[in-house]
Amino acid sequence: MNIFTCSPRPVLETCGLQNFNYQVDPYIGCAHYCRYCYALNQAQTDWTAEIGIHRDIAGQLAGELAQISPQKIYLGYHTDPYQPCEAQSGQTRTVLKVCLAKGFSVSILTKSALVVRDLELLRALPDAAVSVSVAFNDNRIRRQFEANTIDTEARIDALRRLKQAGITTNALICPVIPHISEVRPLIDMLAPHADKIWIYRLSIQNQADQNWLNVARILNTHFADQQTAIEQILFTTEHSYWRNLRQDLQQLQKDRQLNLDIHL
Ligand code: SF4
Repeated sequence: MNIFTCSPRPVLETCGLQNFNYQVDPYIGCAHYCRYCYALNQAQTDWTAEIGIHRDIAGQLAGELAQISPQKIYLGYHTDPYQPCEAQSGQTRTVLKVCLAKGFSVSILTKSALVVRDLELLRALPDAAVSVSVAFNDNRIRRQFEANTIDTEARIDALRRLKQAGITTNALICPVIPHISEVRPLIDMLAPHADKIWIYRLSIQNQADQNWLNVARILNTHFADQQTAIEQILFTTEHSYWRNLRQDLQQLQKDRQLNLDIHL
């Protein structure tokens, strides 16, 4: 993977998520290259070949944070902040250190267990939160859709260690793909280690988008007998599949007093 220094751009950017005003993407591109990723549709680089870093992320971020009041910054909106190269380049670790020095905190979303490396820093940040995203309990299927990520079990173990250390932990079951994702087993695996579980379906905006072209290719190769049914469900907002799954999970939530946030 080639690591290049990107042309000057803001490190701190406004964030479209509820509860967050600002986000930081320590990298440009994502080597995890999940085939369903919505950010692929706006990708500026070849994610299979290169990852961009900022020239002076510490100095630039410190200057940009000086312009706003201390608050929680989101990491993980357009790219995973724990890229494989983070182990050497330490861009995200630098962001955490700058946030700590300036009185800010973070909420992180990742698919990597490398986040555990920064456990002590996270404990020092006021009310830091880490969310881990998983989509498949069957690692054979996971490799079809996200070949460059680590096993689901390794991610959940990272979540377990973070929670044990007192960090606020969340899990995302995302994306739910009809007839492929098994949501209940994932909830069983995650519930002991996550303060809250968010569940989102695969959302495709346009059938010409790169992420849909990728998913359609995988369905055609590995799930050909179900492809038509899956596509019909995916592109029907109020399909009975979603209604039934929603009701099933709402019942589960009630029966087991789970903290689920269901977006199906
Ligand atoms: S880890 Fe996240 S940002 Fe990276 S490719 Fe996968 S879904 Fe996209």
